[in-house]
Amino acid sequence: MKLYKVRAVVLNSRAMCDADRVLTLYAQENGKIRAVAHGAAKPTSRKRGAVQPFSYTYFLLRRGRELDSVSQCEGLEIFPGIWSDLDRMTYAGHVTELVDGLTAEGEPNGDIFKLLLHTLRLLENTVDVELTLRYFELRLVALLGYLPYLEGCANCGGEAFDPRARFSAAAGGLVCPQCSRGAGEIPCTKETVAVMKMLLHWDAGKINRIRVSQSSRAEMRCIMREYLQWHMEKRSRSLYFMERLHAYRPNGV
Ligand SMILES: [Zn+2]
Repeated sequence: MKLYKVRAVVLNSRAMCDADRVLTLYAQENGKIRAVAHGAAKPTSRKRGAVQPFSYTYFLLRRGRELDSVSQCEGLEIFPGIWSDLDRMTYAGHVTELVDGLTAEGEPNGDIFKLLLHTLRLLENTVDVELTLRYFELRLVALLGYLPYLEGCANCGGEAFDPRARFSAAAGGLVCPQCSRGAGEIPCTKETVAVMKMLLHWDAGKINRIRVSQSSRAEMRCIMREYLQWHMEKRSRSLYFMERLHAYRPNGV
């Protein structure tokens, strides 16, 4: 019987039979882990708060043949401010979904863990939840190696601070009018570029002090949606390709 301890954020908690729940966790040292919490959905269970999504929890896990299981757990931070506000809850759900969708088991990344926990703490009480979410998305893509190129045209290297500059997910950043392909690209003003750079490089404590127009907020929302979607699809295409490859080579590659 092998036991191990982790401090992890609960990304997801799915109902199973007999009041059991399957948890997806993200831990600093171990990265993404899936584990079953037996009896956690019972109204009397002491595990309930500690295994709900967004909770930062201390776990004692037991290794299993297929799934590990929760032997003990204790909630360290359960974020009541997020749970009492529908917007905060929706945004926190988006944050945990992105970490789940863009990371794989067995690939720990301590910086992603720190960003995740820090963002949940910001969502617990920060004023500007929308900018907090953009901050998280930009830092996450940067940590995953997809830092968007905002210094010029990502295609030709030319000047991109043109009022007609656009953001292209496929090019990985801004594109000048000459390199623009039109389809799937989003207008990106100078203000939007400046705010994205601030969110990437400034201390997150300054988020509440940044003033951003509604039009720039809308641009950033579209840009990040396209960019994240593009990487999600690319990731699922490569997973599909790997699965096909294994199917052709049953002994593995
Ligand atoms: Zn160009």
